[in-house]
Amino acid sequence: MNENNLFRINTGFLINQTVGAYREFDIDAPYIEDESKNIFEDVLATVRISRVQQGILVSVKATAKIETSCCRCLEPFQQVISCEFDELYAFHLRQNADADVFLPESGIVDILPLLLEYLTIEIPIKPLCDEKCRGLCVECGQNLNLGSCEHSAEKA
Ligand SMILES: [Zn+2]
Ligand SMILES: [Zn+2]
Repeated sequence: MNENNLFRINTGFLINQTVGAYREFDIDAPYIEDESKNIFEDVLATVRISRVQQGILVSVKATAKIETSCCRCLEPFQQVISCEFDELYAFHLRQNADADVFLPESGIVDILPLLLEYLTIEIPIKPLCDEKCRGLCVECGQNLNLGSCEHSAEKA
């Protein structure tokens, strides 16, 4: 992924345009991975790059899928997660002295680290295959989504 990073965006063409100019496009990636080995599949990011007063504003809305397992029934399933963020890449100007992030000389920004960070935040701590998941029988471990056991039948 690093060698051919789809999330490196050349914003150079916008630098000399008027404030308010923008371009919007989609980036599809079959697969991205972060340093903690979280794997995000079928990544679809809608990216808008805008020329603003202070520099270039990059706005991203993305969805991706992760392989996880249900915290109630322990079955593996694919969870769709989504995230949204903005990042301002400021020009190297005196009035921008206190900016957090500056636009590189090349005009090329890499949004992959940010995207991974924001997607990771959205990974659910207690994933559920379905809100109505019935979980496992505490007595025998039967997956109650697949059928009842003698214990669940007794209660019903
Ligand atoms: Zn479940
Ligand atoms: Zn049971």
